[in-house]
Order: sequence, then C-alpha cells, then structure tokens
Amino acid sequence: MKRILITGGAGFIGSHLCERLLQEGNEVLCLDNYFTGAKRNITHLLENPYFELIRHDVTTPFYVEVDEIYNLACPASPIHYQYNPIKTVKTSVMGAINMLGLAKRIKAKILQASTSEVYGDPTIHPQPESYWGNVNPIGSRSCYDEGKRCAETLFKDYHQQNGVRIKIVRIFNTYGPRMHPNDGRVVSNFIVQALQKKEITIYGDGRQTRSFQYVDDLLEGIVRMMQTGDDVTGPINLGNPKEFTILELAEKILQMTGSNSKIVHMPLPQDDPVQRKPIISMAKANLNDWEPVVELDEGLQKTIAYFEKLLKE
Ligand code: NAD
Ligand code: UDP
Repeated sequence: MKRILITGGAGFIGSHLCERLLQEGNEVLCLDNYFTGAKRNITHLLENPYFELIRHDVTTPFYVEVDEIYNLACPASPIHYQYNPIKTVKTSVMGAINMLGLAKRIKAKILQASTSEVYGDPTIHPQPESYWGNVNPIGSRSCYDEGKRCAETLFKDYHQQNGVRIKIVRIFNTYGPRMHPNDGRVVSNFIVQALQKKEITIYGDGRQTRSFQYVDDLLEGIVRMMQTGDDVTGPINLGNPKEFTILELAEKILQMTGSNSKIVHMPLPQDDPVQRKPIISMAKANLNDWEPVVELDEGLQKTIAYFEKLLKE
C-alpha cells in the first residue's frame, strides 16, 4: 500500500483521482483549500479509513510523509484563474516550490498537472511536446499560462539539481461529471445552458477548435505516467486527438439534450487559442500504448446525466 498526497484533490479531476487511487488499494491524503473544489465531490469517500482530508493552501509549506505526490492544486477555468491572477501565479509557482521541496525532503515521486495552455495560441498544429509555444506574457490568460510554464521549469530544475523524481503531464481540455456547474468552461456551460433552456453562449464565431478528453481517459494516462521508470520525466501530452469546433460541440449538446435553446454569439475573450489538438505519440510510446477510448458522444452522455441530476437537487 502506497501513501499518496493529491493537492487539489477536492476538484473535478482530483476527486476522480482520489477515488481511483483508493480503489487500487492506496492510502490517499486529499489536500485542498476549496477555492474551486467542493466537499460534495469527496464526501462519499470520507467513510473510507484510508482516505484523509486536509484543508490547506499550497502557497504555504506543508509537511507529511508520503510515497507519491500528484500536484493538481490550481484553478483551471478562465473565469476562476482570472478572478485573482496574482493568487493564480502564487498557487502555480509557490505551490510547485512547496511541493517539490517536500518531495526532495521525503524522496517522494511527484507529478505535475501541467496544461496545453503552455503552448498558448499555437502556431504549430497539432502540438508536439517539442513546441515551445506562443504565449502572451502580459495578457488575461498569462497568470495561468506563465504560472504553469514556470512550474514546469521548477520541476525540471529540481530534477536536474536535486535528483527529484518528477513527472510532467500536459493535460488538454478534459471534461466529465463533477465539473463545477458555474466554472465557465465550455462543456459544462453548454450542458447547463441547454438543460436550463437558456441561450447557448458561443464566444466568437465558434470556428475555434478544441480536443475534448473524457476524465477516465486522462486518469488512466496520469496513473500510468506515475508508474513509469525514473528516466521518464515528460512533459508528455495527455489529450484526445479528435478535434471539434466549438459550434460543432454546441450543436451536439443541443441534439443530445433535446433542448431548443438558441445559440447566441458573444465577444471572443482576449488571446483565446484558435486551435488546439495534441500529438500523443509520446504518451503511446511511454505509457503502454495509452490512448483515449471514450468517444465524445459517450462522455457527453455521462456528463449530461450528471448535470441533470445535480440541477434537480
Ligand atoms: P478544479 O478547479 O476543479 O480543481 C482544482 C482544485 O485545486 C480545486 O479543488 C481547488 O479548490 C484547488 N486549489 C486551487 N488553489 C489552491 C490552493 N492555493 N491550495 C490548495 N488547493 C487549491 O480544476 P480541474 O479541472 O480539476 O484541474 C485540476 C488540475 O489539472 C489543475 O492544476 C489544472 O490546471 C489542470 N488541468 C486541467 C485541465 C482540464 O481541462 N480540466 C486541463 C489542463 C490542466
Ligand atoms: N467558450 C464558448 N462559450 C462558453 C465558454 C467557452 O464559446 O460559454 C469557448 C472559449 O472561448 C474557448 C473554448 O470554448 O474558445 C474552450 O473554452 P474553455 O474555457 O472551456 O477552455 P480553454 O479556452 O481554456 O481551452
């Protein structure tokens, strides 16, 4: 049995990871400050004697004895990470320093939840890990993008300078049950709007693209990544290479929910990436042929069912 720390464990991805690692027979310590996470995401785990909940902010140091650390703490949706941009930078940078310092001290393996946002508004399509990105350092997305880029730098430097065993995954747009209904990301927004018969808000003309990965596929990739040998540090892309326009997503969700909500167009936010799609050959090669298996329709069906239930409560 391993003892595992998950920062951001009460969030969307974190809560699924807590569940999965407990199911695999580990002891899980879930650390969160509940900025965007919620206790309801993990209440069903509280009775498990191998699950522990800690209210803590990763911008301040934390000491505990564990074998592995998954560093997920950071608001992930634009409205939340732009709410207090200085805090977002602190969470990514100070959080990485604190968790890497801990990993160094206790000789734990540590995984960083990085992001496709390190590629910014990419000029290369699709995106390989070797691409350095096209990021505005002073725009509204910069607190998140540059914070995550600096965290990657810190991970590499702690590895090179101190021999810390690191793993970096660059996560592309991931969706599924337990996304926050008001978190502003496109999948949750469109589903909630469709179910509530409100207008579907497309930013810009809707021709921008994203590649949507169901949360279970991501978890499989993350867990396999943690199990790789010490020479595999990443960064490795984890995403679904099937690309859709935002307009296609809206139409699909309208059709699947049977909603007659109207589509309206709103201004495109600053620096909104025009296109995004991962190259996943590195993940396939290093993670036992990992590739996403959940089709968008199937993943959306499960996510719609989750929000239908949530909105009735
Ligand atoms: P989320 O907002 O649901 O989860 C983030 C969690 O971190 C929340 O529980 C929040 O309360 C917690 N948190 C935030 N600041 C904290 C702090 N200072 N101290 C302690 N806890 C803090 O978002 P998510 O989608 O589950 O994202 C999890 C991680 O994956 C994030 O690091 C995010 O950047 C990364 N990621 C997610 C996606 C995606 O599409 N969902 C894509 C790329 C990267
Ligand atoms: N988007 C949209 N309507 C919404 C929310 C988002 O058209 O109500 C668009 C957004 O402008 C972006 C895409 O959907 O082009 C994905 O947005 P999200 O915030 O989910 O993720 P990110 O931009 O970080 O990839």
